[in-house]
Amino acid sequence: MAESAGDAAPLLSIRGLTKRFGGLVAVSDVSLEVSAGEIVGLIGPNGAGKSTLFKVIAGIEAPTSGSVIFESKPIGGMRADRVCRRGLASTHQIVRPFPHMSVLENAMVGAFFGREPRPHSTHAAREIALEVLGACGLAERAYSPAHSLTLARRKRLEIARALATSPVIVLLDEVLAGLNPTETDRTLELVRSIVAGGITIVMVEHNLRAVRGLCSRIAVMAQGRKIADGDPASVLADQNVVDAYLGTVHA
Ligand code: ADP
Ligand code: MG
Repeated sequence: MAESAGDAAPLLSIRGLTKRFGGLVAVSDVSLEVSAGEIVGLIGPNGAGKSTLFKVIAGIEAPTSGSVIFESKPIGGMRADRVCRRGLASTHQIVRPFPHMSVLENAMVGAFFGREPRPHSTHAAREIALEVLGACGLAERAYSPAHSLTLARRKRLEIARALATSPVIVLLDEVLAGLNPTETDRTLELVRSIVAGGITIVMVEHNLRAVRGLCSRIAVMAQGRKIADGDPASVLADQNVVDAYLGTVHA
């Protein structure tokens, strides 16, 4: 390794990011750094701007101002497919597979739009897709239409599609929402295996037990701003965080 961990530039660096929708400031001057190998939790009340921040990072929404640097190169405002090609994949809070395509075909789309070098044949894309479907517990559903899956499986398909892009980092937006305890455990196990495979993760999640159990760091957003960022124990004990978020969750 050429660099020691202390010298390494962050994998992802967001600086002064703002996103407005007309008069509404959804994300306001947010800065966040993520190092390779981290698993960062992003929490905050509904409407805080978490999904919008993810969409701007992933190129689904253009930033109003500020920068996004990934692997030392600016990607702010770059189209989503190009961002994905560089190795930054995301899942969406509202899961939206191509409903009439099979589970396998949905995962193959990920492989075709993924990081370079991408598969050059349908056969190669299929191999990648089958492997990630296996890892995501969806192998036996490979030939079912995506619309026939339960919510838990649709969410795992969303993760599979992201993994099929051979990402360096994955942004997971509420992959546990709506899952029962068994499905939650299964998805948590999957997230742990992704991290063990060397992929960096930023996850938006309301399940604080999961966040506490998984994340090495937690950032908190409220009303578009980042109000805390640090190790899980101190962030969750921070009075500003309790007032802005935890008070409402446990009310
Ligand atoms: P979170 O994911 O933290 O719940 P969002 O990022 O979804 O928050 O939303 C932040 C704010 O931005 C909300 O007030 C939401 O209504 C608004 N918003 C999100 N997307 C759009 C959009 N495409 N157009 C207008 N307003 C939006
Ligand atoms: Mg959201």
